[in-house]
Amino acid sequence: MLTFHNTLTRKNEPFKPLKGKTVGLYSCGPTLYNYPHIGNYRAYIFVDLLKRYLLYKGYKVKHIMNITDVDDKTIRDSQKEGISLKEFTTRYEKAFFEDIKTLNILPADKYPKATNHIKEMVAITKALMRKGIAYKGDDGSIYYDIGKFKDYGKLANIDTSKLKAGASGRVKKDEYSKEDCQDFALWKAYDKADGNVFWETSIGRGRPGWHVECSAMSMKYLGKTFDIHCGGIDLIFPHNQNEIAQSEGWTGKPFVKYWLHNEWLLVNGQKMSKSLGNFYTLRDVLAKGHPAVAIRYLLLSTHYRQQLNFTFEGIDAAKASIGRLNELVRKLQDVKDGEKSVLIKKEIAAAEAAFKKAMDDDLNISEALAAVFDFVKSMNNHIDNSTIDKKSAVAAIDFLKNVDTVLGVMNFAAEEELPTELTKLIEERENLRKEKKFAEADKVRAKLRELGIQLDDTPEGVRWKKVS
Ligand code: AMP
Ligand code: ZN
Repeated sequence: MLTFHNTLTRKNEPFKPLKGKTVGLYSCGPTLYNYPHIGNYRAYIFVDLLKRYLLYKGYKVKHIMNITDVDDKTIRDSQKEGISLKEFTTRYEKAFFEDIKTLNILPADKYPKATNHIKEMVAITKALMRKGIAYKGDDGSIYYDIGKFKDYGKLANIDTSKLKAGASGRVKKDEYSKEDCQDFALWKAYDKADGNVFWETSIGRGRPGWHVECSAMSMKYLGKTFDIHCGGIDLIFPHNQNEIAQSEGWTGKPFVKYWLHNEWLLVNGQKMSKSLGNFYTLRDVLAKGHPAVAIRYLLLSTHYRQQLNFTFEGIDAAKASIGRLNELVRKLQDVKDGEKSVLIKKEIAAAEAAFKKAMDDDLNISEALAAVFDFVKSMNNHIDNSTIDKKSAVAAIDFLKNVDTVLGVMNFAAEEELPTELTKLIEERENLRKEKKFAEADKVRAKLRELGIQLDDTPEGVRWKKVS
């Protein structure tokens, strides 16, 4: 049975979608004010793992990820550069879409942008005012009265009865701490500091608060109640807490059934973040010559609710793990029936069951990967001892293919073609060996190695692989 840890109840709960086998999934997307760092990608890769596992289990997933293209930070930094908000955010939007492709993250069904949904945000704000839950402050902005929402604080585990005296005040900025838990801005009346970023609407000239953006876009595309909402743990308060207050205050219905939040990617024990300056963008890491697939593997291979310390040794270890998986695939592709070959169906079924059992337990990826690597070890033994038949090898590849619909890191393509000049060099070495000119043959081998091709002499003949 599939279970998830629900931030709302702080318990592991069996997963039952609202509508049969269809899952509505919303994940908070990027704020377009910088090139995302790999900490951000830990959040998006966690959602990708969740979504891929739901698909593996036979669910249909409707995934919406918003794009925040107007908020305090985007306005502030576009002004610093002296360019329009649109020009500024478009740069980072392009980078984001390139990066998710590079990281083999499955695309969402839709990426709604905040600036295209002002009408919906105004409608929610107006409805909340009509209900007496929101009010206009003396600065002309519209605030949510948190005292009017019974469950305020439930998601973030804040006891509102213990809020300090100043808690009857208001907070206009998008981000603030639990200590500043107060009425928050749904709509920010125009302020000169916003320059030319404003909309003329029936609730006045201004712009939306960040939190109402996600209420409006999630409910528009997934309905008033939907299954899963994800984000990094920093979003629990105030962002997701305020989304619940806005959405449930408006509809009177439960907003989201399961809230899932990922932990930090750390650097030397500290959260990777732009403000601390200890971050690497995806581009930074790729420029150092590391393959994207190793970054993906590293970011997904620790349980999403555990902190993960980023190191370059970690990337090298990830590279080695992927290498072991791909090497087994190559060997399985070469298996031929022999005298000692036996069917190993049961072993494959056991590995599959262990993988599922671990992933069903709140996506316990470390245990799931342990099951996969036990399988790798055992298959390598079978291959080395010729105790696997062709049919089982095909079944083993099929199992790995299924696992990889979840991991997205393996390579099943039959061996790629080498450029002719390299093939010629391999042939030349073979001929030299046949003529017992071993020293010369070794020279050709070394030359190939310099060109990034490693040769292995196996009982089936010479094999090559690309190395860095
Ligand atoms: P932002 O673009 O700043 O709104 O962040 C996008 C997502 O990345 C949010 O879900 C954050 O919680 C998440 N995030 C930011 N920094 C980290 C980090 N160091 N580790 C894991 N997730 C992070
Ligand atoms: Zn959001």
